[in-house]
Amino acid sequence: MQALVLEATRELALRDIDLPQDLGAQDVRIRIHTVGICGSDLHYYTHGRIGPFKVEAPMVLGHEASGTIIEVGSDVTQLKVGDRGCMEPGIPRLDSPATLRGLYNLDPSVRFWATPPIHGCLTGSVVHPAAFTYRLPDNVSFAEGAIVEPLSIGLQAATKARMKPGDTAVVIGAGTIGAMTALAALAGGAARVILADVVAEKLAHFANNPAVITVDVSQRSLTDVVQQVTEGWGADVVFEASGHAGVYQTLLDLVCPGGCAVLVGMPPGPVALDVVTMQTKEVRLESVFRYANIFPRALALLSSGMIDVKPFISRSFPFSQGIEAFEEAARGRPQDVKIQIEMEG
Ligand SMILES: [Zn+2]
Repeated sequence: MQALVLEATRELALRDIDLPQDLGAQDVRIRIHTVGICGSDLHYYTHGRIGPFKVEAPMVLGHEASGTIIEVGSDVTQLKVGDRGCMEPGIPRLDSPATLRGLYNLDPSVRFWATPPIHGCLTGSVVHPAAFTYRLPDNVSFAEGAIVEPLSIGLQAATKARMKPGDTAVVIGAGTIGAMTALAALAGGAARVILADVVAEKLAHFANNPAVITVDVSQRSLTDVVQQVTEGWGADVVFEASGHAGVYQTLLDLVCPGGCAVLVGMPPGPVALDVVTMQTKEVRLESVFRYANIFPRALALLSSGMIDVKPFISRSFPFSQGIEAFEEAARGRPQDVKIQIEMEG
């Protein structure tokens, strides 16, 4: 089957490759429609590795997908042929201790699309467990379905923050994950979100949202803005979604006494944290690794109109131009948030 294959660092090919096609009793076969390009796909493309995960053999990229169900296994009752769906890219072992505790995102044996050595979904069709395939509501498009994966990270972060109605939230970083986290914080009850980035074009996507105060941190200090907006008290929740180590120098200054800091972005290495500042304010520290039990909530929020992701889907390329799509994504146009690849149409 034709797939977008990462052969080696900086080397992509659109070519035939043998992929597992066996349909188990609890699986569905999905004809892929749309796949979003993620920061992790790009990182494997440009660097060949993320932490301990190294691309050592050709690997199909892509893990943010939607499509149409074309075959169902004999035990599948919740989905039928013709349903549109989106897929959770991680398949945990269902009998692992983490899964049994409801923390299936933390199962060490999880098989996650496009994380070496597991192939991704940038190909014509895939076989996937029905349990991790979710029907798209009629008013949710394939493009929106394919952005449910990064949106779920934002919603996992808002869930971990245990937000309350009327909270003031800070989100550091306005890339895809920061943008999705800002939307999730608002849906989770934030009265206002102070969103910070160094790229004005990324912040501009929120210009028309009266609940979002954008801060271009190349122009002014985030700490000052938070102090001003909260009258010196600090924000109830601070989401770190940039992955920049430098942010940690002032991260805890932004949080109010008794507030919460949620670590979403992954810094490139260890960072120093001012523990005493944290203690004197009893700051609660939370962290996020992917998501668990979030996809249905993301789809409910999209379907009801509480969350609108459409402004963040910047461009779409046909599969035949998949390599150009990756080159464009790697170029990093400041106004681009999510770039997607469409398999058909
Ligand atoms: Zn992703």
